[in-house]
Amino acid sequence: MDFALSEEQTAIFDMAKDFGAQEIAPFARQWEKDEIIPKDLWPKFGELGLGAIYVPEEDGGSGLTRLDGTLVFEALSMACPSVAAFLSIHNMCASMMAANATDEVKSRMMADVVSMKTVVSYCLTEPGSGSDAAALKTRADRTNDGFNLTGTKAFISGGGYSDAYIVMARTGDAGPSGVSAMLVEDGSEGLSFGGLEDKMGWRSQPTRQVQLDNCNIPTANLLGEEGKGFTYAMKGLDGGRLNISACSLGAAQAAMDTTLAYMGERKAFGKTIDQFQALQFRLADNEIELQAARTFLRQAAWKLDTGSPDASKFCAMAKKHATEVGSRVVDSCLQLHGGYGYLADYGLEKLVRDLRVHQILEGTNEIMRLIVARNLLKDR
Ligand SMILES: Cc1cc2nc3c(=O)[nH]c(=O)nc-3n(C[C@H](O)[C@H](O)[C@H](O)COP(=O)(O)OP(=O)(O)OC[C@H]3O[C@@H](n4cnc5c(N)ncnc54)[C@H](O)[C@@H]3O)c2cc1C
Repeated sequence: MDFALSEEQTAIFDMAKDFGAQEIAPFARQWEKDEIIPKDLWPKFGELGLGAIYVPEEDGGSGLTRLDGTLVFEALSMACPSVAAFLSIHNMCASMMAANATDEVKSRMMADVVSMKTVVSYCLTEPGSGSDAAALKTRADRTNDGFNLTGTKAFISGGGYSDAYIVMARTGDAGPSGVSAMLVEDGSEGLSFGGLEDKMGWRSQPTRQVQLDNCNIPTANLLGEEGKGFTYAMKGLDGGRLNISACSLGAAQAAMDTTLAYMGERKAFGKTIDQFQALQFRLADNEIELQAARTFLRQAAWKLDTGSPDASKFCAMAKKHATEVGSRVVDSCLQLHGGYGYLADYGLEKLVRDLRVHQILEGTNEIMRLIVARNLLKDR
């Protein structure tokens, strides 16, 4: 067993961290105010090979592992978790397309998805079904040359902004085996969007409902087999959960770095506040939690990379643990800044707001416990 990152992995982390420091961090607050990430940012990720991180090289991707992916998302989140998490969603979609799209769609779209000229969103949640995603109601009925979709998807990151949408829709009976995954391209007739959601965090990412009203798509846009869409969607989420965990850790690490520097400067009662043992213990607790969560996350990523049968359980456990640790650590860092932590200029309050949603999406942390418990009971 070897816990060290390879030279290549260290280089990947450093490359993503440098890119974040130069191209994201200086602008992140403005993008939050504008409620939009400029679209010309994405092709820059494409140039670095980060538009399709774990898509195989034969499909034009970077062919990296899930563990490598967590390094990218941890490093980018040090600059802005909202931008990093949006990239994670695109990557989840890119790998679903590489694994399941028809040759026609791949030859028409994959190069642009990899280069991020085309940005893709993931549409599973509906107004009436979130955690119970298999209860989704959006219908996709067969036509002579494809499918006709009607329904509403809720909370879609990139809704009204992305260039294509992977939509999970019902082609069969109730339950997960009646769900198929298909690609709906922007501009399709019958595709429209709700208003911009006014959110606590992730404010630079546009979130909207995606509405499908007799929207016709060609048969070639079906991903994989009919009735397998729910399986593909859940498989995508295993990796998505690793990435979102990494986003929490990167932001928490950035908060810790800022806090350590701040505490060496800020004085109270005649000494710098890093001299108070009560505060040192807080720092120590944060460090212990962060390091433990990082090790746990990397183990889960390794399990997914090696196809371990308990990989889904580990992805769920790591997601629950790391996202809660991330939120605890950034909140603690805000507290260690006193009143200044509450001011936007110090950057901590944004992290507290941005990380909160990591406990809710890609499966809530209650659902993560449900997955773990189900596995425990099954394996008795
Ligand atoms: C900013 C943001 C971006 C998002 N982006 C996307 C996206 O791009 N694509 C997408 O498809 N979705 C997206 N989502 C949706 C997200 O995945 C859902 O909000 C999430 O899955 C929870 O579903 P829900 O909101 O319907 O809550 P509900 O399912 O209604 O849950 C309500 C509460 O009940 C709990 N609960 C539900 N069932 C159980 C159970 N069996 N046992 C114990 N507790 C339970 C939940 O944990 C939660 O606390 C996004 C959400 C947000 C907020």
